[in-house]
Amino acid sequence: MCMDKKIDQIKDIYKAFETEAAAYKETAACRKGCAYCCTDAGSIDITTLEGLVILKKARSLLRLQQVKVNKALAEDLKKKEKGQRSACPFLMKNKACMIYEIRPFSCRRIYSVHVCNQDNPPMLSRKVIKMAEKTIEELQILDDTGYSGHISYIMHMLKAPKFLSTYLTGEHKPEEVMAFGKTHNIVINLNVSDLLKNKEMVK
Ligand code: SF4
Repeated sequence: MCMDKKIDQIKDIYKAFETEAAAYKETAACRKGCAYCCTDAGSIDITTLEGLVILKKARSLLRLQQVKVNKALAEDLKKKEKGQRSACPFLMKNKACMIYEIRPFSCRRIYSVHVCNQDNPPMLSRKVIKMAEKTIEELQILDDTGYSGHISYIMHMLKAPKFLSTYLTGEHKPEEVMAFGKTHNIVINLNVSDLLKNKEMVK
């Protein structure tokens, strides 16, 4: 399947989750201007396909914004490598998300039934957590020639011309990213997809 069709399917997968989780999210305390999840962000895991959507958006920004985003991504990468806390590179000073319309699933799945603070991290229904796990698997299966990992790591991979060219042609050469993948907890989506197929077969 070509990348454009896959990107269209991402939207369907997001929509299906939103529909399934809608009743639970009705009680969410999340409001515009609250960026708790983005400020003290843990790992913001994305697939390479979601990263490709973000890369296209980033490259359409004004030159100055692109410079800022690239700097923020590089800083986030360094901080995460050192195990330090870091705000999301796409969080703006006014606490709005620069890529809200195309934000990855990591951000779409999170909500909280109470207002969050240091002592009260986000709390969501176990059922929604299960739904989200299923959705993540669907996204990884869709992106079966790609990878999953923290947002600045995946963006770093996509910005490497050799990797991007391999990825865009639909080839799968994990050996090309083996060294970076091992040190940055990058998941090979095909392995997840194979594991799930095997699970289905033994059922
Ligand atoms: S991509 Fe947007 S919504 Fe997601 S963590 Fe970053 S700023 Fe927050």
